[in-house]
Amino acid sequence: MNNNFKKPFIHFTLVVIILVFSISCQNCTSTNADNKPEKKINNKSSVVVSKQIALSKESLLGKVNPAKDTGFTAIDQKYSSKKGLYLRKETYAAFRKMYDAALKDGITLYIISATRTFNEQKNIWENKWSGKSSYYGKNIATSYPDSVERSKFILSYSSMPGTSRHHWGTDMDLNSLELSYYKTDAGKKLYNWLTANASKYGFCQPYTAKDNSRPTGYEEEKWHWSYYPLSSIFLQQYKEKITYDDLKGFAGWQTAKKINIINNYVLSVNIKCQ
Ligand SMILES: [Zn+2]
Repeated sequence: MNNNFKKPFIHFTLVVIILVFSISCQNCTSTNADNKPEKKINNKSSVVVSKQIALSKESLLGKVNPAKDTGFTAIDQKYSSKKGLYLRKETYAAFRKMYDAALKDGITLYIISATRTFNEQKNIWENKWSGKSSYYGKNIATSYPDSVERSKFILSYSSMPGTSRHHWGTDMDLNSLELSYYKTDAGKKLYNWLTANASKYGFCQPYTAKDNSRPTGYEEEKWHWSYYPLSSIFLQQYKEKITYDDLKGFAGWQTAKKINIINNYVLSVNIKCQ
């Protein structure tokens, strides 16, 4: 074969090779894109959520019966001083891992409050609203005759029915609700352990001290911890599905919109919980 014949043949072969390579690579790319696993990997820790749980409006508002809902499970009395407490199964599994780790470090976690339904929150709220229960030593009904001011005062540490994260089965109060406890050695040891370790198990503190990143909402609650692989999803669903028309059926409900409770309280949480 002479050189004059060889050159065009080599060029033709090269063009065919490039074309075949380019077509097969395009196929490779599209196959990989189509086969991406549908896992949500939470980039705040190694916690992986394999499926999205879509809550109904009723569930987001706490209109659930955790004793009969298969998504929930009863908390063993080993972990709580009270009977009849429930959490979502995923939250409970993560809590038990955190409990074991804390115990190895000489700290015993116990759950004071877990899932609360709309009606349970309504009782708590209305007892304060009506003055039946005193709140920080005050009869709120007489101290705060203005309804908006009364709601705002209760909202220092208590949620309006339909707006509590405790409705979702992802949130819990641990060890002590007393501010003074967290100034003791035991309280400091507990809180330091939680801030250093809870995120390894998927837990965050929604109500940190108010600052520029969380200018409104509840006061700091060092006892309230949330299982964010689920609660961050439920918070998003709350934002999309719940309106002020849904926040009714309790004393003082008319103040919810005036206070802008969805933006100023429900959505005003630590960035690590969002
Ligand atoms: Zn709480």
